[in-house]
Amino acid sequence: MKKEDSIFIAGHRGLVGSAILRRLRADGFNRLLTRTRAELDLTNRQAVDDFFAREKPAIVIVAAAKVGGIKANNDQPVEFLLENLQIQNNLIRAAHESGASKLLFLGSSCIYPKHAPQPIPESALLGGPLEPTNEAYAIAKIAGIKLCQSYAREYGANFISAMPTNLYGPNDNFDLETSHVLAALLRKTHEAKTSGSRAIVVWGSGEPRREFLHVDDLAAACLFLLQNYDSPEIINIGAGKDLTIRELAELICEVVGFDGDLDWDRSKPDGTPRKLLDISKIESLGWKPAIPLRQGIAQTYAWFQAHHR
Ligand code: GDP
Repeated sequence: MKKEDSIFIAGHRGLVGSAILRRLRADGFNRLLTRTRAELDLTNRQAVDDFFAREKPAIVIVAAAKVGGIKANNDQPVEFLLENLQIQNNLIRAAHESGASKLLFLGSSCIYPKHAPQPIPESALLGGPLEPTNEAYAIAKIAGIKLCQSYAREYGANFISAMPTNLYGPNDNFDLETSHVLAALLRKTHEAKTSGSRAIVVWGSGEPRREFLHVDDLAAACLFLLQNYDSPEIINIGAGKDLTIRELAELICEVVGFDGDLDWDRSKPDGTPRKLLDISKIESLGWKPAIPLRQGIAQTYAWFQAHHR
């Protein structure tokens, strides 16, 4: 990938896309193409085709998706399945037809079977039933992987797919109904601290294990793969270690400076029991995560305080 390549970052306002945009800018890539949702509706095939025919980006990064936490995924399977299929089909097809030389499709660790071996190797894909709370989203992402692999096999396209673990960082969604756990707990502890509440409500049993990767680490990994990885085989991007939701909640309380109680709402689902990615493949190529969880949470909390009032 060259500094003067035109690079389209689909989804540049989201958690992932904004981090990739920051990273590419910092590294001196200067032909970065972005479009807001108002400027380009990625679910509209004609609009996407017209945009690609006009701009002909050399590199396409598919960071646009309808995403959400366990509740949103569970409540709106139709929207998660349909919108994600539409967005990725439009982008991947148009990238091929307009002659893009490389495409990076971002999936998710929820594509793996609910009871996959831990840590989860890339080979676990399609080895068993999915976790029901995010099955619709996972099926869409699996379809995206298969479409990229099909373009590679049938047309020789250099379309690669990376599977990030649970992410957090600046520009995360802090809406309590639709966010993921880390952003939700940052908000809840901050609000409890500032309002003087003695407890926050945490969903589920606290026992599921999750890993969390700072989105700046993900952006560095994406750039690394764009420059060093040309295989249609999927590749995991993770932090390499996990912790329980209870441990996460305690860590967030420490960072925020909230010393009240945790009230567990066991009517809410736990989701998959454990979701730790095996990152030996990307590590063997020469990339590893750099931002420790406590430091990343502190940085994200500072961002939250500066942007949410
Ligand atoms: P998942 O990784 O797809 O299950 O998505 P989430 O990040 O939304 O949830 C991870 C785990 O955190 C689940 O076991 C949730 O029940 C638990 N959790 C605890 N409190 C919260 C909360 O306030 N919001 C969310 N989204 N999850 C929570």
